[in-house]
Amino acid sequence: APALYLVSTPIGNLKDISIRALETLAGSDLVLCEDTRTSAKLLNAYGIKTQKASLHEHNETAQAQNIVDEVIAGKAICLISDAGTPLISDPGFPLVRVAAEKDIPIIAIPGASAVLSALAVSGLPTDSFCFYGFLPPKQQARLSRLDELKDQTATLVFYESPKRTAATLSAVAEVFGATRQIVVARELTKRFETLYRGTAGELATQFEGENVKGEVVILSAGADKTAAIDPGEWRDALRELMDELP
Ligand code: SAM
Repeated sequence: APALYLVSTPIGNLKDISIRALETLAGSDLVLCEDTRTSAKLLNAYGIKTQKASLHEHNETAQAQNIVDEVIAGKAICLISDAGTPLISDPGFPLVRVAAEKDIPIIAIPGASAVLSALAVSGLPTDSFCFYGFLPPKQQARLSRLDELKDQTATLVFYESPKRTAATLSAVAEVFGATRQIVVARELTKRFETLYRGTAGELATQFEGENVKGEVVILSAGADKTAAIDPGEWRDALRELMDELP
């Protein structure tokens, strides 16, 4: 049926794609890819011959209206990214915003996304979590972003590039404190899948000077909830303590 389909693809293991995703990709009129060469590997592996076009951050705003018009004209169009779920630190948001404004059908074909897999295996609380995508690459901006987040009590999830992992872990230790529990999930679903768990201080030391290979998600336990007591409560508690002083 004519619609814009947001199709999740694997984050490493080619088998992590749903039957519905394969059927939708094979049966659509066009597959918009972040990088057509990257997606060709996946589509070829499953014998999918649908026409491809590229949609990346440099052309998606300009292309959005044309794509929406194609759907209105009766086309079934899929959007995929290089890995995982489109729009999640990947292209697609400007297109989906225009599609939503025009009220065309937008259908999710769900599947892998590194954020949820990393969270689930982390051992950190999952009842409440915040995803912050990539931290700013420059040290000063990264420190100030972390400073804004240091009192967040929900589990925090970040994407990071391997070459900045060590620097980010030491920035986290500096701003969140060395005792904060951290998990690094590396190469999920792939051959060298590894989980590193420890305090921010321990992991900053462990990764210092390391040439990290592969893809990583960095997760941090939330701030201690007691640290977020409101000032009025502190005042009452202090008054009680002072009454007991000689
Ligand atoms: N759209 C993707 C998703 O849904 O997960 C994310 C795309 S983003 C450009 C790439 C980042 O996702 C990587 O830098 C890394 O932080 C994370 N990532 C993707 N695949 C991963 C994997 N197999 N293991 C660990 N992290 C991964």
